[in-house]
Amino acid sequence: MIFETRCAGCDKPGAAICTTCRFALVGTPPRDQPHGVIAAVPFTGRARSIVLGLKYRNRRAVGRHLAGLIVNRLVAQRAHHGIELVTWAPTSAKRRRERGFDQGELLARSVARQLGVPCRRLLERDGSATQTGRSRAERLESAPGFIARPGLDGRCVLVVDDVVTTGSTLMSAAGALEERGAITRLAAVASTPEIRSASVLPFRRRAVSTAA
Ligand SMILES: [Zn+2]
Repeated sequence: MIFETRCAGCDKPGAAICTTCRFALVGTPPRDQPHGVIAAVPFTGRARSIVLGLKYRNRRAVGRHLAGLIVNRLVAQRAHHGIELVTWAPTSAKRRRERGFDQGELLARSVARQLGVPCRRLLERDGSATQTGRSRAERLESAPGFIARPGLDGRCVLVVDDVVTTGSTLMSAAGALEERGAITRLAAVASTPEIRSASVLPFRRRAVSTAA
């Protein structure tokens, strides 16, 4: 049996991402959003198909390409300077089992390689964290809690994810890293269309606050 490679964006046989889809991915970057996550492309059209395609098809080739989009975007915004470590917000154990890999990790490793800095697992899911009963809980209650490794004082850490929606997962991850003294930058391949979200900002304050 011959394993046939098909485009993750349009299903055409051939490359992991065909030329047409490659061009479709170098369009206009999404507008800056209140969550402050640097995203390479809007999560629409072919970009959406390709990001979703990463979950089940040609993931190494697609992952490398999508990581390249993040790196290009960081460089265009001059946000790549000073990054010392790359990490990711780990997905749940259940999801990882279902997929057999963690997309965030795959992207983070490729981004790190392209930036020439180390990639480290710095975050674990905090099963004990509860996010309920706070302002904006209806939007953010599903955000996972994270615990970061110690020893990050003054280190500049880039946290990478595939898709950013409210930004709550990445901000929760950033909050945990900042509690350990890290300086964080957040980046994703794709961003869902604009959300009206002054609502995301209080979450970040909460993440670094120790108040009950
Ligand atoms: Zn294609």
